Amino acid sequence: VRAYQNAPHQVALLTKHLKQLIVSPILADGLGIKTVHVDSFDTDSLGTFDNKVKRDLSAKQTALKKAHLACEFSGLSAGIGSEGSFNSELGFGIVDQEILAFVDSANALTVCAIVAKPINLALISATDETMLYQKLAKFDPHQAWHLLSSAEQDAVYLATGLSGADNIIAAANRHGFEVTLTPDFRAMHCPARREIIALAAQDLVTRLCSLCPNCGHPDFVFSHKISGLPCELCDSPTALVKVSHAHCVSCQFQQSEPNERKSASSFYCELCNP
Ligand SMILES: [Zn+2]
Ligand SMILES: [Zn+2]
Repeated sequence: VRAYQNAPHQVALLTKHLKQLIVSPILADGLGIKTVHVDSFDTDSLGTFDNKVKRDLSAKQTALKKAHLACEFSGLSAGIGSEGSFNSELGFGIVDQEILAFVDSANALTVCAIVAKPINLALISATDETMLYQKLAKFDPHQAWHLLSSAEQDAVYLATGLSGADNIIAAANRHGFEVTLTPDFRAMHCPARREIIALAAQDLVTRLCSLCPNCGHPDFVFSHKISGLPCELCDSPTALVKVSHAHCVSCQFQQSEPNERKSASSFYCELCNP
């Protein structure tokens, strides 16, 4: 085990959506920690992506709550909770933010891993079978979809968790065109999301193995980035990272890591390359 001192040998993961299949091999390889799957609590009661159950807590608070519930229901001292959120306001399509919260009550430790990346998913509207087939072909064939009565806010779910183009087209024909489909974001139905959850699990491994040089507390990562790397030609500050800081939440020790490069290409300079 390369994690921090007195790290647990087992950690409970609370999920109804098969996330243990993603997280467990990454924790085993990276930390030598065994994942114990817990599904005796219905995580959908904390909020669902279709908004049938509204989420009252923030994504981070929800992930932490799931981690504590994982401990409670397994009787283990360490637990992981996972929560995803989707944002489509940035103009990059849909951005998936995945949080994995790790709690270790024996060591009074909380570590949160967060990864956010755009995923190739979107709402689909189609007025006939050919159009629907063409639009579905742009996405992962293992992605599942919900069939909606319309694209409006108050749309009714006509069918949920549909997968396979033939099944989806049959359902569309049953309910009649025009149809609207929205992605099923539950992890077992969403391959794009599973990739981001895997990245978050890797981030968690990194954080649990990054120890404060002063006290050995984990989560000592150079995450606070300061921009301003000087331009190679005119020396004015650019948007590139000049220095990264790490800060220990336990002993307050701080460390800075300057960018290996001393200057930025003038390509990034607002004066030389406006
Ligand atoms: Zn420290
Ligand atoms: Zn310049």
